[in-house]
Amino acid sequence: MNQSVKDKLKKIVGSQNFLDSEEDKKVYSYDATALLNQKPEAIIFPDDEEQISQVVKLANSESFNIVPRGSGTGLSGGAVPVENCVLLVMTKWNKILEIDTKNHTATVQPGVITARFQQEVEKHGLFYPPDPGSMNICTLGGNVANNAGGLRGLKYGVTKNYVLGSEMILPNGDLLKTGGKNMKDVAGYNLKDFIVGSEGTLGIITKIIFKLVPKPTDSITILAYFDKLLDSANSVAGIIEKNIIPCMMEFLDHTTINCIEDYTHVGLPRNSEAILLIEVDGRGSAVADDARIIKEILSKNNASTIKVASDPQEALNLKTARRSAFSALARRRPTTILEDATVPRSELPVMIEKITEASRKFNLTFGDFGHAGDGNLHPTCLTDERDKDEITRAHKAFDFIFNEAINLGGTITGEHGTGLAKKQFLEGVAGIPGINMMRQIKSVIDPNNIINPGKVFDISPKCESYLPTDRK
Ligand SMILES: Cc1cc2nc3c(=O)[nH]c(=O)nc-3n(C[C@H](O)[C@H](O)[C@H](O)COP(=O)(O)OP(=O)(O)OC[C@H]3O[C@@H](n4cnc5c(N)ncnc54)[C@H](O)[C@@H]3O)c2cc1C
Repeated sequence: MNQSVKDKLKKIVGSQNFLDSEEDKKVYSYDATALLNQKPEAIIFPDDEEQISQVVKLANSESFNIVPRGSGTGLSGGAVPVENCVLLVMTKWNKILEIDTKNHTATVQPGVITARFQQEVEKHGLFYPPDPGSMNICTLGGNVANNAGGLRGLKYGVTKNYVLGSEMILPNGDLLKTGGKNMKDVAGYNLKDFIVGSEGTLGIITKIIFKLVPKPTDSITILAYFDKLLDSANSVAGIIEKNIIPCMMEFLDHTTINCIEDYTHVGLPRNSEAILLIEVDGRGSAVADDARIIKEILSKNNASTIKVASDPQEALNLKTARRSAFSALARRRPTTILEDATVPRSELPVMIEKITEASRKFNLTFGDFGHAGDGNLHPTCLTDERDKDEITRAHKAFDFIFNEAINLGGTITGEHGTGLAKKQFLEGVAGIPGINMMRQIKSVIDPNNIINPGKVFDISPKCESYLPTDRK
């Protein structure tokens, strides 16, 4: 990108909202995904829709790329810069514009941090359930772009279940408005849902309207330890079979338990093969009934210890410990590759075995944890990117894991998105007609391929050079 284009960008967003020092470019060269990084040409923090629209028009006329970014916590490389790009960061857009207690909706800017939003709506007796493990740092815009899930997905669903409407600057600079506060709206194609999960490839989200639900009044948090991994997986199946839907049913394997304990010292049992962290919520006695049945199922499946959190603080400590799983595992080795293979719930025991098999077969250390009730596992390879042989084995292990997930009727990503990291596997899930349709849609909306090119399904040559050779 030449200086005259940079000067034009500065003129649009103001020099205070423009960075291009080598240090800044390095800092913004990656997101939370291991192994992928590329420096942008510049980083901008636009103030309003008009500035974004002008930047997009400039990108079309001057042939540079734009990569939208929230907090950069993505785990599939969605916000990793591409060649000749400006990174457009939305963290300044951090206002909660309205909490509408009559309609149970909230209107927000996309840079609002997820946990802050949850705290604010809860002050009104309302509840925004999607709670990614990264909720203290990620943005709602990133959540919408990736259709983020979380610990409460089993009962409450994921981000898409709460998006009622949005605004987005399209690749031609127009402002697209979709949806609104209506609980029902079937006018025309469902563009609102189409934007959710578009991974920053269709435009820049500038406003979101969320549905809220009443805050549950009661909850019980249960922790169960297992000597055998398979018993924990069978417990998950047993609970679902009884038609009980906890709001949370999280699984941690032996390696993850020990890394979390090293990190948080909450008293997790170091010898256990697996732990389930389960929470039931709702109103009144139904919550206690569900908890009683769950404890019976856990006993039948040989849980060695079943503990009920004695108070909200203990429950919060346990959930906070669980949310630290990625950070805790990341302390063990220099490079942490975390994935999110997902299978139909009934296949969870098989998938857990397959991950163990991958670890043995390719001689690697894996921690495994995840949203067991959703069949959404996070096999996490603890490795060192300086060891080329180990990285090659890690890639082979993930190829094996993804293929096994697909064979079990599962998918390559339950919540992190395809981004850069998993685009080579997309065909196995979406099929060639599916990928072709995605490419056709993208080429109509973004004919010059300037918004986050090279991601999800895009194999345009201009964006391939920065992928590791065995990941092309
Ligand atoms: C410790 C840890 C735990 C995590 N736990 C979970 C979890 O439980 N569930 C889960 O789903 N994910 C989880 N993630 C992944 C990540 O936090 C989510 O994908 C999150 O939604 C990303 O938000 P972000 O603001 O960081 O977005 P970024 O990483 O900045 O961007 C993600 C994608 O969204 C696009 N984007 C961002 N903002 C906009 C915008 N305004 N307009 C258009 N496109 C935009 C980017 O281009 C990119 O493709 C975790 C990550 C970490 C590091």
